[in-house]
Amino acid sequence: MSTVLVLNSGSSSLKYQLVNPDTGEALAVGLVEKIGEPLGVLTHEVGEAETMRELPIPDHGEALRLVLGLFDEVGPSLDAAGVVAVGHRVVHGGTAYSHPTVVDDDVVAGIEALIPLAPLHNPANVTGIKVARELLDVPHVAVFDTAFFASLPESAYTYAIDAAVAKEHQIRRYGFHGTSHEYVSQRVAQVLGRDDLKQIVLHLGNGASASAVASGVAVDTSMGLTPLEGLVMGTRSGDLDPAIVFHLRRVAGLDVDEIDNLLNKRSGLKGIAGRNDMREVRSAAEAGDPAALLALAVYRHRLVKYVGAYAAVLGGVDVLTFTAGVGENSAPLREEVVEALAFLGLAIDPAKNAVRSKEPRVISPDGHEGPLVMVVPTNEELAIARLSVAAIA
Ligand code: ADP
Repeated sequence: MSTVLVLNSGSSSLKYQLVNPDTGEALAVGLVEKIGEPLGVLTHEVGEAETMRELPIPDHGEALRLVLGLFDEVGPSLDAAGVVAVGHRVVHGGTAYSHPTVVDDDVVAGIEALIPLAPLHNPANVTGIKVARELLDVPHVAVFDTAFFASLPESAYTYAIDAAVAKEHQIRRYGFHGTSHEYVSQRVAQVLGRDDLKQIVLHLGNGASASAVASGVAVDTSMGLTPLEGLVMGTRSGDLDPAIVFHLRRVAGLDVDEIDNLLNKRSGLKGIAGRNDMREVRSAAEAGDPAALLALAVYRHRLVKYVGAYAAVLGGVDVLTFTAGVGENSAPLREEVVEALAFLGLAIDPAKNAVRSKEPRVISPDGHEGPLVMVVPTNEELAIARLSVAAIA
């Protein structure tokens, strides 16, 4: 057997999965949280069995050492699992990295050089790569969240601002969640047996993004220089008038970090309804809470607008696909959004929409003529594992 250890390092967390890239099986799934806090938490799941530890975990190096210790102690044995690569999720690849890349010292320096573009994410990704390279003597592969969107046409990635300023500061649309949009759009093509599709993919998790994909190539996406742009998210505003930032500075007196925090952490569903979890917003709305009803209405309005815009960008649409936490699980949201898009010929069968499954599926009525609606569970870890194997081959 050969497997890939997939690592996703956050500022105070380390998520991991041991994945068999051939079967798609996750042999172990785990999470270290509260790294650097007085008490860290490590959860390691193998099948149904869960092991949990609470102890101080000062840094990512210690976190990974503990994880490797647990693989020895409760299994599965990494030796027996035949780890052929470590796949690292890296948020920002800038224009330098448009493909999964085998890591050497230059690549580490390259990812470090992109920190100004992703100050919240790339530092943790670099730390994760450094400690893992010390502890695991196999090839390491960086898989970039931006890479799938390297194909965007200039007209889609260029912001209409002073060209010299944009160039000097690398200001353009990069797009994020690329590994998920790529994986999901490829699954759609596989399931339908067609590679010439005009696809719109809605990745609706805590973060949310839309993409337009023509014959497997991304042609537009809703996230921009950073993951803040686009759809309404759990805690991020998505699109807004950039002059709101000036207003918050000049009139409300907030400093730049406070504005950053407001728009990234205290906006979106949370900003409008006080909750970022879609399940809670939905039940509050069902109980008649006006703020939750408004949050849902704004969330849906933005989605409908993006799908309409991307249908225009693509010159039509063959498939609209929902994925990630909200997209995969919220049948009512799918129904409401598709209902508003009936003019595009989109429709869903309520019974199919209600089915819960981990399999990709078409939820349009049987025999429906016109564009299809699908639900395709995303699997970024599996995608990273497969891309890592391909990169070292
Ligand atoms: P992340 O972006 O953190 O990976 P996920 O893709 O796991 O997020 O999505 C998290 C979101 O999915 C949360 O807002 C959560 O409420 C939502 N979600 C999960 N299950 C359901 C469900 N059954 N109905 C509606 N929303 C759900």
